Amino acid sequence: MRLILLGPPGSGKGTQANLLCERLKLEHIATGDLLRAAMSLHTPMGEKVRSYVESGKYVPDEMVNDLVAEHICRPGRPDRFVMDGYPRTLAQAQAFDRLLAEQGLRLTAVVRLLVDDEEIIKRTSKRWSCPKPGCMATYHEDSNPPKVRGICDKCGTPLIQRTDDKPETVRTRLRVHHSQTAGLLAHYRDQGLLREVSGHGEIEDIYNNIIKALGSAK
Ligand code: AMP
Repeated sequence: MRLILLGPPGSGKGTQANLLCERLKLEHIATGDLLRAAMSLHTPMGEKVRSYVESGKYVPDEMVNDLVAEHICRPGRPDRFVMDGYPRTLAQAQAFDRLLAEQGLRLTAVVRLLVDDEEIIKRTSKRWSCPKPGCMATYHEDSNPPKVRGICDKCGTPLIQRTDDKPETVRTRLRVHHSQTAGLLAHYRDQGLLREVSGHGEIEDIYNNIIKALGSAK
């Protein structure tokens, strides 16, 4: 199974991607996590993308396309995966189509999580993230708190609130998201791949609705 999860920042893509990966044995490919890992390791690419990520703007298409291509073309590349946060523009979707065709891989479905903007602002202001490269777990103060307040369950690192989760930056991210998404949705709707699922409610219910929406797709 090869999936793309679409939805605004804070719509629960990461949480659902984790569940899908755990339960269906898929690899989680999250461009936001790959970019933040490069930033915290201060790699040349990490330094190039820092100002975009911290201000909530999109990183230029060629940079994320290259990052994803590196990941998908490496030896032992994942065969079954969930894309989380990529593609985000029509140009990225077209580049991803070409990459998959070159690799002889077909997409199974594109799942769009629907969540309204006010709910997103509420959720992200209560989001806590693990800054450790390779972990990057996220928590929510009310719906998914860590066992020990302020500490990552998985690796024990103190949790942080991401600079780009501040309400004013989230508003910028939502504006950018809305302006870029229409073309992307039309692209996947035309290919018959788009499935829309409400991202409101309990995590398990949303997961079950995703599985229902996928039907017999493998
Ligand atoms: P995320 O964790 O997916 O919300 O991504 C965090 C930030 O990384 C975004 O606000 C962008 O600055 C950058 N980013 C992640 N994925 C992409 C992408 N596919 N295209 C452009 N920028 C991206």
